[in-house]
Amino acid sequence: MAIEGEFLGGGHEVGRLGILLKCRDQRMLFDYGMTATDPPQYPAPAPPIDFMFLTHSHLDHCGMIPWLTARYDIDITSTGVSREVGVLLMEDSVKIGAAEGYPEPYTSEDIKIAKRRFSDIMFGDTVDAGDTQVVAHPGGHIPGATMYELVDRKTTLVTGDIHTLETRLVQGAKPVKCDNLIMESTYSGRNHPSRLKTEYSLLKKIEEVTNRGGTCIIPSFAVGRTQELMLLLKDSRYEFWLDGMGRKVNKIYLRYPEYVKSAKRLRQAFRKTREVRSVHARSRALKGDIILTTSGMLDGGPVVSYIEAIRDDPKSAILLTGYQVEGCNGRKLLETGTMDFRGVTERVQCEVLKFDFSAHAGHDELLAFAKGCDPEKIVLMHGDQREILAGDLRADGFEVLLPRNGEKFNL
Ligand SMILES: [Zn+2]
Ligand SMILES: [Zn+2]
Repeated sequence: MAIEGEFLGGGHEVGRLGILLKCRDQRMLFDYGMTATDPPQYPAPAPPIDFMFLTHSHLDHCGMIPWLTARYDIDITSTGVSREVGVLLMEDSVKIGAAEGYPEPYTSEDIKIAKRRFSDIMFGDTVDAGDTQVVAHPGGHIPGATMYELVDRKTTLVTGDIHTLETRLVQGAKPVKCDNLIMESTYSGRNHPSRLKTEYSLLKKIEEVTNRGGTCIIPSFAVGRTQELMLLLKDSRYEFWLDGMGRKVNKIYLRYPEYVKSAKRLRQAFRKTREVRSVHARSRALKGDIILTTSGMLDGGPVVSYIEAIRDDPKSAILLTGYQVEGCNGRKLLETGTMDFRGVTERVQCEVLKFDFSAHAGHDELLAFAKGCDPEKIVLMHGDQREILAGDLRADGFEVLLPRNGEKFNL
């Protein structure tokens, strides 16, 4: 078997992923997402395809699915939880797009079409894609995240985003023996501090802030990060509130308990969380200890009004918990001490700190994962510093390809 591949986006960058693989005259697309920057960035237009697989529902992996299903008569293979979260994100991105005035790649009608094209699978299931069989494996990262293994005379594993360590929310991904490995490399060259240490320092900081009479605003991504933090806070003595899209994601996760590490603990965490159900409740939340809210990068969402309320209070703190992409409001705040409030740049006087709760495997974990898969060829993708990891893999005897977007590669 020969596979011809090409990245429509997300090859040499983090974001807007689209992996096109041609296998026995069948064209398969793995993920089709957008980068929610200002303005948004899209992958190259996909040619007609036969099969589409979704690894997980972060916008950079699922955001452009309605564009596809509006044009081509195809089904999307995905876990049920990724389907539901994905639809939520697509609907949200259309709303945001309309509010910001950018030309929209698709309409709400297109999302309705996309919704009907999903076909649910579970981990361990095999799907026929022409003469090739595709097997779904757990990818760690967030609930429902899937790695796909193409089985022909040779096997090829497409990882999507992976995390190999267990977190409070999900189990880690395990290596799958394969001949070709197409692996994410977001954290090439960088390792994370241990999760336990990060959790400890976040809890210490919360204690310090609440002891001095301040409020902690914890901006966090709605999908995955919010629920992991709720699981951390549920055993603490703090009063914590949740506002924003994370509430909707919670409800979806409850319907798919098989994709979280402990549905029981997650339910306990939900019960301990106070939800902000109206704009009026925001002032009550501000009297509590902690507010978990979106957006995680401070680009819009309820977080902006919470920060407005505490920004001149040196006793309070903004505790960032996610990656802050170049050009986002959170990065601006970290680098300049100012941020954008509805178009006006203002100084923020309260404390600002960042904690590394990444859902991606770090450099050493990616290296160990690749060795565990023991492939002949490795394609690194979804990273802007791929050379560092490629160097270490080559030193271990692997053949490594680093195709840029639009460049064809053969497996
Ligand atoms: Zn992801
Ligand atoms: Zn990603």
